[in-house]
Amino acid sequence: MPVKYDLIVIGAGPGGYETAAGAAARGLRVMLAERDALGGTCLNRGCIPTKCLCAAAGKIIEIAGASDFGVEAMLEKADYGFARRRATAVMDELRGGVADMLKDVDVVYGEASVAAGRRVLVGDTVYEADKVIIATGSKPAPLKCAGGERAVDSDVFLALDTLPERLTIVGGGVIGLEFASVAAAFGTEVTVLEYCSEILPNFDPEIARRLRTYLGRRGIDIVVGAEVTEIKEDNTVVYSRKGKEKAVESDMVLCAVGRRPVVPAGCAEAGIELDRRGFIVTDDNMETTASGIYAIGDVNGRCLLAHAASAQGRVVLGMKPWLDLIPSVVFTIPECASVSLGTAGTLSAKLPYGANGKALASGMAEGIVKIEYQPESGAMTACHAIGAHASDLVAAALPAIKTGMDVRSMSEDVIYAHPTLSELLSQVCAQISS
Ligand code: NAD
Repeated sequence: MPVKYDLIVIGAGPGGYETAAGAAARGLRVMLAERDALGGTCLNRGCIPTKCLCAAAGKIIEIAGASDFGVEAMLEKADYGFARRRATAVMDELRGGVADMLKDVDVVYGEASVAAGRRVLVGDTVYEADKVIIATGSKPAPLKCAGGERAVDSDVFLALDTLPERLTIVGGGVIGLEFASVAAAFGTEVTVLEYCSEILPNFDPEIARRLRTYLGRRGIDIVVGAEVTEIKEDNTVVYSRKGKEKAVESDMVLCAVGRRPVVPAGCAEAGIELDRRGFIVTDDNMETTASGIYAIGDVNGRCLLAHAASAQGRVVLGMKPWLDLIPSVVFTIPECASVSLGTAGTLSAKLPYGANGKALASGMAEGIVKIEYQPESGAMTACHAIGAHASDLVAAALPAIKTGMDVRSMSEDVIYAHPTLSELLSQVCAQISS
């Protein structure tokens, strides 16, 4: 006889554990299956450790810039191994927090597979539920070129205790650039090879171009339009650009060319369809082609972000989060952030951070904030930013965009404290409505 639950969740990443805890808080009997550590990619191999390393990199950059304030400081030592161990301690603490969140959930450790009839198998035990949620995430995509297996992926890179002297990163997307930013701060000579004509191909092009300039100023060599053809035994990366073959010598190659879904066994037999890239097909309720079985997070390929996974879980629990307005942040130094309704035919306006008192006073003048708005109504449709605390700026604009606030109201009615970076939002809108 199967063990019965109201809800079974497979995968304890942010999508899985938040949804499981949320369902239990609503009084449902919940089982959560996990084959590894609680927290998934985000906590163990993604967002959290990289943010710890990014914070350490920020300290190094701050010391380097201290003389701008008349403060003479010398960087004596930047111990990457220490930063890495600090990340482990932070991850351990957060994992404890996740375990506490799951106190009313039955967590079953082991490899889970799905079966028809909303059944889940872990070891020899068969479980059955009214609803099953697959939240099994994704893994790094391999590099398809001669010697591609010589490149390490982000999982391997994050486990390093020392950084190489020369690092070549294949892929100028979010992962590649976040690692480039950290490694360069610790003194590694970094080259980024990006296939497309600009880094961050899914971001606002002006923000991406500026990021390339800013990272270039920090000594990171970014080559766009580069097609990697081979990684040689000595880690020399061969690529072609504008029809010419070039090579970059390195001690290590990091592959950051996207991620692939991790799909549990049994999906085909259970009637769960995959798309041509291997992601699980879902409808707007996150339900798969098998009735009562849902897929949330990276595994459905809709939006590979932790907060998107959690929000999709809330959809399965009957809530209506704003899935049309998911913010995205790149934690480089400086940060990039964006939130957009994706509306066509909009106008835009931008303002440099240097126009803001707080930014100038604090030595944070590098950056811009950009607003998109509808020409007739003036309703804001997007906010993009690059610069210090860009993620917080964009977060401040998000509810205003969702509620259709117009640029006049943003500049005249909303009162932001002075002097704060948030004033950049009213400043840029004032420029439009004047
Ligand atoms: P990505 O899709 O963001 O970027 C991959 C980049 O590699 C692209 O720019 C692509 O053009 C380039 N590329 C692909 N093949 C290439 C090749 N052969 N040679 C050179 N360039 C090549 O993928 P990612 O950076 O690996 O990140 C994976 C996912 O994880 C993304 O969806 C990302 O949003 C998510 N993520 C988010 C965050 C965050 O929110 N801060 C952090 C890390 C990862």
